[in-house]
Amino acid sequence: MTTDTLTRTANVILLGPPGVGKGTQAQILVENRGMVQLSTGDMLREAKDSGSEMGKRVAEVMARGDLVTDEIVIGLIEEKLTGSDAAGFIFDGFPRTLAQADALEALLKKTGQSLDAVIELQVDDEILVDRIVGRAEQAKAAGQPVRADDNAESLKIRLMEYYKKTSPLIGYYHAKGALQSVNGMGDIDEIAQGLNDIVASAMT
Ligand code: ADP
Repeated sequence: MTTDTLTRTANVILLGPPGVGKGTQAQILVENRGMVQLSTGDMLREAKDSGSEMGKRVAEVMARGDLVTDEIVIGLIEEKLTGSDAAGFIFDGFPRTLAQADALEALLKKTGQSLDAVIELQVDDEILVDRIVGRAEQAKAAGQPVRADDNAESLKIRLMEYYKKTSPLIGYYHAKGALQSVNGMGDIDEIAQGLNDIVASAMT
């Protein structure tokens, strides 16, 4: 282990259901620790907004609340990992399936990097619904665009997809000894402090 603070970094996965606050916490880690956020949701929305062929293909799937194919999201992450010499990645919304978790492991190995922590943010389901519906209402009131999947119907599917396909990753990473859990129901700064402590101690 190096003690050189300039070269110390950590690659971290943020795990948890839609609306749990992964994006908010990832942003704080970017600001405070200079880490690089890799949000597959943001990448897919960018593809959609750019009008690319892939963007057109995923738009409907995303609006419904279903998962996009493993192949597409793994391709997006591969591009980011192989096309940059940055380290200190925060994987936000990826991996979301066991196949994606396996692909990430292989990609990190290929690029000579390690996975240093998997942080699960935990909240009650009722809070998720309130947060997401609230987020949509706030955006609407402020005259901002509302995400096509921030509605009660799509949210139900997003939550179902999470429990069916993504939550098995909790056991998967727990078995590897990599999982740490943080209560996601406190205030934002308190949660950020918990995450910051985990990241700091996971640095290699
Ligand atoms: P949230 O976590 O709030 O549901 P995201 O912005 O992470 O939102 O994702 C929005 C949508 O993008 C998902 O519902 C899904 O359709 C698609 N998506 C994002 N990441 C992935 C992924 N890793 N695998 C498959 N689909 C994804």
